[in-house]
Amino acid sequence: MNGSTSKGQDAPHVRHWNAASKKVSLLVTDLDNTLFDWLEIWYESFSAMLNKVAEISGIPVSDLEKEFYEVHQRRGTSEYAFALQELRSSAGLSRHQVKAKYEAAIGAYRAARDRTLHLYPRVAETLAAIRATGATIVGYTESMRFYTSYRMRALGLDKLLDYLYSPEDAELPIGLAIEDLERYPQDKYRPRHTELRHTPRGEKKPNPQLLLDIVRDTGGTPETTLYIGDSLMKDIAMAQDAGITDVWAKYGVPHDRAEYALLKRVTHWPPEDVAKEESIKQREREQNGSRIVPTYVLNHGFYELLTLFSYAAPFPRVP
Ligand SMILES: [Mg+2]
Repeated sequence: MNGSTSKGQDAPHVRHWNAASKKVSLLVTDLDNTLFDWLEIWYESFSAMLNKVAEISGIPVSDLEKEFYEVHQRRGTSEYAFALQELRSSAGLSRHQVKAKYEAAIGAYRAARDRTLHLYPRVAETLAAIRATGATIVGYTESMRFYTSYRMRALGLDKLLDYLYSPEDAELPIGLAIEDLERYPQDKYRPRHTELRHTPRGEKKPNPQLLLDIVRDTGGTPETTLYIGDSLMKDIAMAQDAGITDVWAKYGVPHDRAEYALLKRVTHWPPEDVAKEESIKQREREQNGSRIVPTYVLNHGFYELLTLFSYAAPFPRVP
């Protein structure tokens, strides 16, 4: 085992088998902040746009944040391609006028996104190496499919994931029709290799049955599956409840970073979700005993998966 890779600190349940002897034939991975720094990409592009909009319009940033909050709440996403057109201060302007007025802001958004849109170190090589063994790789995200698909193509994940699961109801921003997005070239946001699949409507992480269904439907078994994600509350709790080996992508944990504060100010999350997350984090701080303790912890990067486990194609099933 790599010395830098620690088992869950003070893990109460030390396993007696050697991790490297575990043959993994299915890897299920979270996407945002596990394969790439979603928060950095979002923050850099959104704040570049926000500051440019403030400069062009003369509206204070704090007022604009409130306007974006309203749009994101209404559309159910904090990544909304048409947010500028729906700002309160854009009322009365046509789509074309908004685009012309804020051209520099849109440019700043795109430039920052393109600068920050990359995978964490050695993610592509690690996925390729695991896939070369014949093991299956499944991505599982709750981000909106439209934006996830764009990122998958841009990041080169399309050739590396066999399946991508996302919630059906997160396919498009609320109230938006696919025609609204058709101005975007199809090949920029539809994966060519990865098979897209839906998780059931209304079901979310950390429901363990969701993960068990994914394992079954992609031909895996819980015993030979690994699940990796950066959220203790959502990813690790779900894998543990499903009886699937959990790996915590600690290197990707975004909370308590300054960028997170801006996301919360303009978020699409309902206020009760924000409050719930705060109270859970508070409880975790107060009662050490109720903490979710991950079985494996990756401190440095996704690539640690290669030294920690061995991978193989699933055994053919006995008919
Ligand atoms: Mg994540």
